Amino acid sequence: MKKISIALVGIGKIARDQHLPAIAADPRFELVACASRNASVEGVRNYPTLEALLEAEPGIEAVSLCAPPLPRFAQARLALAAGKHVMLEKPPGACLSEVGALEEMARAAGLTLFTSWHSRHALGVEAARTWLASQDIRHVHVRWKEDVRRWHPGQAWIWEPGGLGVFDPGINALSIVTRILPREVALVSSTLKIPSNKQMPIAADLELTDTAGVPVQVEFDWRHGPQELWEIDVRTADGSLLLSQGGNRLTIDDREVALGSVHEYPSLYSHWHDLIRRGERDVDARPLTIVADAFLLGKREMVEAFVE
Ligand code: NAP
Repeated sequence: MKKISIALVGIGKIARDQHLPAIAADPRFELVACASRNASVEGVRNYPTLEALLEAEPGIEAVSLCAPPLPRFAQARLALAAGKHVMLEKPPGACLSEVGALEEMARAAGLTLFTSWHSRHALGVEAARTWLASQDIRHVHVRWKEDVRRWHPGQAWIWEPGGLGVFDPGINALSIVTRILPREVALVSSTLKIPSNKQMPIAADLELTDTAGVPVQVEFDWRHGPQELWEIDVRTADGSLLLSQGGNRLTIDDREVALGSVHEYPSLYSHWHDLIRRGERDVDARPLTIVADAFLLGKREMVEAFVE
């Protein structure tokens, strides 16, 4: 079958670490061009902006957007207006209204929009979802803690409005929670710990509940190190489940579960390929809704200034 010709936009950390290798390893895609203001990729045509790329490369079918959330909305609108299928890195928008607007644009044009959540493609997530579907869940505890200096070096945008602060990694946990739990969850309360010299939180505590009243306790912290802690602990009436290493390790009742071998970004691109071929969209803003709610209900605490 003919390859899907794609362009990659915003060549930074995640584009180089994950998108380029995943695209190179998938024979169903052909990377034709990239757009980035200051970076270029060897072996493809490079443009400083998406506008220039779209003008010069009318044959491209799909565009994968890896810039930070704030500039990504204008890029997504441009790509959809030019008739391209679009994949959005997470979070799918700097705010919720963007996601609905893009979904409407894509639907009207019959294009595929994929709001990707890479952590949902971690190795243990689907097995956790399957096991939990038949369980009497009593309590969920999420701990997503890492060292911001290690994972986001020099990323000024992440501390600005629209950058989400600690919710940038925390939303990955929320993307897993909203996938594995059998019922919808809603926010009850939140506390945002904001450095005195920043706009966005460095840590946050959330209390959620599912529709049956099961408590979901969430702790996000960027002041943690050196070993990151990315885990979701679920207690049920008969046992327990621990999803750790960002969803890539699963134990049920303290026994390790054997998992598959297709990693997050190859799995993401495979799903996007299938969506495009089937003419479908996959738009899910629920993790971002919880983040928006955490800001709506958030009790703000000023904490020590952060200097990188
Ligand atoms: P990044 O390296 O800081 O940014 C990606 C690239 O976007 C930059 O190198 C820059 O390239 C371009 N860019 C930045 N600001 C822009 C602007 N105002 N207008 C147009 N282009 C701009 O960030 P990242 O870590 O790759 O994160 C990007 C997205 O991926 C975020 O939404 C993040 O949540 C997500 N993500 C990141 C990771 C991770 O480990 N870092 C993991 C999963 C998902 P040019 O200067 O060349 O234009």
